[in-house]
Amino acid sequence: MNLIDGKKVAADIRNELKEKISKLKAEEKNVPGLVAIIVGDDPASHIYVSSKGKACEEIGMRTKTEKLPADITEDKLLELIKSYNENKDFHGILVQLPLPKHINEDKVIETISSKKDVDGFHPISVGNLVIGKDTFASCTPAGIQELLIRYKIETKGKHVVVVGRSNIVGKPITNIMLQKAEGANSIVTIVHSAAKDISYYTKQADILIAAIGKPEMIKADMVKDGVVVVDVGINRIDDPSKPKGYRIVGDVDFENVSKKASYITPVPGGVGPMTIAMLLSNTFKAYNLYGEK
Ligand code: NAP
Repeated sequence: MNLIDGKKVAADIRNELKEKISKLKAEEKNVPGLVAIIVGDDPASHIYVSSKGKACEEIGMRTKTEKLPADITEDKLLELIKSYNENKDFHGILVQLPLPKHINEDKVIETISSKKDVDGFHPISVGNLVIGKDTFASCTPAGIQELLIRYKIETKGKHVVVVGRSNIVGKPITNIMLQKAEGANSIVTIVHSAAKDISYYTKQADILIAAIGKPEMIKADMVKDGVVVVDVGINRIDDPSKPKGYRIVGDVDFENVSKKASYITPVPGGVGPMTIAMLLSNTFKAYNLYGEK
């Protein structure tokens, strides 16, 4: 069994970007910038946003966080987004979700310029992904593909089974793996909660991608020998032996499934660290494609 070390790959990506940005600075060029907009004071959202900001700073990327009160009007938020659509110093715009109930998330996402849509949630980005045009793919699925590429895992003609059909993981990774491209060109099956027996599908997987949100649901008898397992799940389970009283596990029973797998991502330290790395990478791409240098 080979462990897919997402922490290391994410660090490699950040270092590669850091080098590119130092070169831009040495040439006195503009550098890529990412603005994060956060509404309200949900502690988890603030932690996510501050780690994104810190990651930008570490690689020399311009970064700014707009902290808005929970009762901000939708119009004011849309105005702010529009101002960043025109701002030449920020090439990526991220609006931390979820938003308070009085704000229409779809409207917010659609207001972000598709040229600055580094989260890959805009319908134009999603549509481009489906029809196979180069675009911003959402960060977690893009990170999964990057792991497969960097570990030189053959994907062409392989049967990829995705469990979960969310708009942020299941559907985009399905569309990514379908493309006639490096790190893709796979035969893809997508399974969800309406399946009577998901093991019928998971047993056929050469590459199994679990994005379910159910702790350790994928057991060893649900996979075949030699399977490549990508575990996207992040689940908190009670564990009195831990200082915090809980631990984080994936959607896969790692201890037993890893005995049958050829490659497997751990949780934590697998897919998780890739999300921010791909956000930085998408921001650099937005700068390259559309930014004033
Ligand atoms: P989600 O929106 O809740 O979607 C879960 C999917 O799993 C749904 O499509 C659901 O089917 C399916 N599902 C649920 N129970 C099932 C069952 N018993 N059998 C088959 N399918 C089942 O979750 P998500 O946003 O995709 O996230 C999935 C997991 O990944 C979560 O643990 C989340 O925390 C984690 N995650 C990690 C990252 C990261 O590492 N950076 C990023 C995003 C998400 P239905 O559609 O039929 O309901």
